[in-house]
Amino acid sequence: MNTMKITVQKFGGTSVAGLERMKRVLEIVSRECARGNKVVIVLSAMAGETNRLLDLASQWSSDPDPAELDALATTGEQVSVALFAMLCKDAGLKARSVLGHQVQIRTTCDYTNARILDIDANTLRAMLNDHDVLAVAGFQGCDEHGRLTTLGRGGSDTSGVALAAALNAETCEIYTDVEGVFTTDPNICDKARKLDRISYDEMLEMASMGAKVLQIRSVEFAKKYNVPVRVRSTFSDNPGTLVSQEDKSMEYVLVSGIAYDKDQARVTIYDVLDQPGVASSIFGPIAEKGILVDMIIQNTSRDGHTDMTFTVSRKDLQKTLALLEAVRQDIGAKEIQSDTGVCKVSVIGVGMRNHSGVASRAFAAMARENINLLMLSTSEIKITMLIEDKYAELAVRTLHEEFELDKQPGERKVGEV
Ligand code: ASP
Ligand code: MG
Repeated sequence: MNTMKITVQKFGGTSVAGLERMKRVLEIVSRECARGNKVVIVLSAMAGETNRLLDLASQWSSDPDPAELDALATTGEQVSVALFAMLCKDAGLKARSVLGHQVQIRTTCDYTNARILDIDANTLRAMLNDHDVLAVAGFQGCDEHGRLTTLGRGGSDTSGVALAAALNAETCEIYTDVEGVFTTDPNICDKARKLDRISYDEMLEMASMGAKVLQIRSVEFAKKYNVPVRVRSTFSDNPGTLVSQEDKSMEYVLVSGIAYDKDQARVTIYDVLDQPGVASSIFGPIAEKGILVDMIIQNTSRDGHTDMTFTVSRKDLQKTLALLEAVRQDIGAKEIQSDTGVCKVSVIGVGMRNHSGVASRAFAAMARENINLLMLSTSEIKITMLIEDKYAELAVRTLHEEFELDKQPGERKVGEV
């Protein structure tokens, strides 16, 4: 029976950018070792390095081979782990670097966006028997052909969570350059407050802001394997935010955060035939191209025709319009219009499951500021409004204020139980 206690700590690009910063990482790691734990450190490439490498590729080739892109991009993390292992050794710790193909972090063959299938935990555990610290390269794995793969931008977070799951680690900490997950984006709302805890589902819904802190896929992974993840800053002792399974105490908090997403474009198709198969003709080809459609509204029918409105990411707008043009005749559309001046604002909280009235409060707050709602959608734990993007900041601040998110949940006046 193996009783070693394992801590997984992942450090992002700004935490490893340069010797001084890596010394700070060493301090954190040494502290963990001093507590008698074995430490698996997952490192990103130094800040800016992955961009630099991908930029090189685009100078060399107009259409770089994705497998070679991965062979190139993985070097960034290789540099970080090798240098960090040297620092550890100089500090008297038994350490070594580990690359994604050396412990077999096995992934799919989707170069530049591979998914982890399986991790050879036995080899890692065997290595941990003889080492205090393993510095594992984040973001990378290898596929069934033995080729290097990467896990998508920000993928080191997923490496960290996956390693914690595979090793059954006591703790999984994601160190970054912010104090944790906030009630909203502190850059646009100075009253944003750091959350002590947030559930996986809320974190996934906070995607538009949360993604800056954690790769979405790492949260999905953490949820699937129930790995509690602590997001915290390398540069302070603040305990950060615990991202974990929902529990009773979270239900009492009506609203946890306000998210916004400016990467939205709205498309309206006027006067399409109102008959079976039309929605499928519109959205089938869009889905086939891997384009994500977010909010969809179909109006009530008039004279056998209806209007259909939906949103896509701005980068996908031109492709979407071209696909619609191709089916235009079949669906009997009179006109297709699009608009990129829109923004999505969402109110998020697991407490909404058990409480009504959140939507009406959000709508009333928008009305007071004279902000027009272009589209609406709701889910169990989220109310989303599409508005003109020039009102994004105002809407976020107004909703933050309405739900008193600057206060601790227990100190809020209305709506809490
Ligand atoms: N270095 C990779 C990136 O910039 C992976 C990561 O940092 O998580 O996307
Ligand atoms: Mg990151």
